[in-house]
Amino acid sequence: MSRTAFVAGNWKMNGSAEQVDAFASTMSKAASELTCDLAVCVPAVFIERMGRGLTAEQVALGAQNLAGEIEPGAFTGEINGAMLIEAGCRYVIVGHSERRALYAETDDVVVAKTKAAAAAGLHPIVCIGETLEQREAEQTEAVLSRQLKAVLSGCEASELKDLVIAYEPVWAIGTGRSATPEQAQEVHAFLRAQIGGQDATMASSIQIIYGGSVKADNAADIFAGKDVDGALVGGASLKADSFIDIARAAQQAG
Ligand code: PEP
Repeated sequence: MSRTAFVAGNWKMNGSAEQVDAFASTMSKAASELTCDLAVCVPAVFIERMGRGLTAEQVALGAQNLAGEIEPGAFTGEINGAMLIEAGCRYVIVGHSERRALYAETDDVVVAKTKAAAAAGLHPIVCIGETLEQREAEQTEAVLSRQLKAVLSGCEASELKDLVIAYEPVWAIGTGRSATPEQAQEVHAFLRAQIGGQDATMASSIQIIYGGSVKADNAADIFAGKDVDGALVGGASLKADSFIDIARAAQQAG
C-alpha cells in the first residue's frame, strides 16, 4: 500500500456506556504505537462519551449515518452533519448495505448524504457492495460500477476530496465468510481503475478499504492486496484488542 492505511470500526446498534469506556481506555493506551488512520463509528448517543474517553487524537470519531438534509428543521429523528461535527466526528459511514437494504437507501439518497457529509466537513466512508445473488450472476462489476458512479458523478470534485470507499460484499458482512484476499484485491483494482477513468490523481490517493468479516486472524492476508488500503470492521471492532490487532496488520502491510 502506498497510501496511509485506514481502519474504521462500525459498532452498528451495539455497545453500552460500559463498553465505550472499556474500549476508549484500552485504545488510548495503545494509540501511540498505531500509525495508521483510525476511526470508530459508534451509535450516535455514544459519540461524545467515546470522545471524552479517547485521550489519543490518533483515533477519530465517526457516525454510522447522517441526514441527507443539510439545514436544521422538521426532520424528526434525524441528525445532520453539523451536529456530528459538534459532537466531535471526523467521519461518517454512508450507504452501508444494511441501510440500503433495511431503510431503502437508494443511490440517490447515498449521493445526498455524501454531499451533506462533505458540506459539514466530514469524511464520508461510502459503502458499496454486491449481494451473493449478484456475484453468482456475474453482476459484481456492473453493480459496483453503478453504485460508485452515482457518487462520483452526483458530487462535485470538491465534495469528493475526503471520500473513502468501503468495498463491502453483502454476503461477507457479519457472516464470518470473508472475501478471499484475491477477490478483494480484484475488486479494489477494478474500483481504482473506474475512479481513474474520471480522475487519475484521485484514483492513486483515495483510500479503498475492504469490509466483511475482517478479523485479527485474516486481516494481514486481506491487506496484502496492493489496492486494499485497510478495513471497515464490524463485529471485531467491538473489542479494542481485536481492533488494535487489525490496525497493526494494516500498518505492517503498508
Ligand atoms: C460492517 O458492519 O460494515 C462489517 C463489515 O461487519 P463485519 O466485520 O462484522 O462483517
